[in-house]
Amino acid sequence: MTASMVADSENGTKVLVLNYHKVDNMNISLSVLPEDFDRQMKYLSENGYHTITPDELYDSLAGNAELPENPVLITFDDGYEDNYQNAYPILKKYDFKATVFVISSFLGVYPNYLTWDQAREMDENGISIQSHTVDHKSMTDLTDDELRTELVDSKKKIEKELGHSVDYMAYPTGTYNLHIAELVKEAGYKAAFTIKYGNVDKASNIYALERVPVFHTEDTNKSFLERIRYTPIFERFGWIKS
Ligand SMILES: [Zn+2]
Repeated sequence: MTASMVADSENGTKVLVLNYHKVDNMNISLSVLPEDFDRQMKYLSENGYHTITPDELYDSLAGNAELPENPVLITFDDGYEDNYQNAYPILKKYDFKATVFVISSFLGVYPNYLTWDQAREMDENGISIQSHTVDHKSMTDLTDDELRTELVDSKKKIEKELGHSVDYMAYPTGTYNLHIAELVKEAGYKAAFTIKYGNVDKASNIYALERVPVFHTEDTNKSFLERIRYTPIFERFGWIKS
């Protein structure tokens, strides 16, 4: 472990988990332009960030492995086809790993979502495919039986299509509570991601991990830099975690 990592925090290395949705030319907040996405990946690459997998994050939080310096977990929610068409070539260019949380009943069904072939190709080339439930329903509106179906069936479906275990999920629209988190654990997931703004460290709830959302704004790249730089400051003053 390097000196800078020790100095990070008493709760261990702070891990930046970025959250994207679409990477395309739609002028909406969920769509980051491909050229902006490229600039952001270039920034991370040139500034010593190292992309990690959810397994690497989990192992470090469990105390079983050390992370590289400036670790970043790049995540995408929903499983849009533009992740394959636009984000994947850019990630490859920088030799970056990433994670896509897919809505299992949408893949291969709706045209603007990934096909299972695309998901498999990405999964075999450094892009981990994980669960974003079966139907993307707001989980706080569901009964326990419905929650179990969303969690277990999506996991099984993705495991069947990809041929390996699926251990991580992201809450649709970020909504969750401690009871839902308990069901996520029961369904066999090792960790879950929210859209609670902040960095992940050893003080984080493993079933409610923080992320930093990246949106298309008036000045997407300025917003990106502010978001990734200011998070630790917000946390230091206790504005995020309580
Ligand atoms: Zn979503």
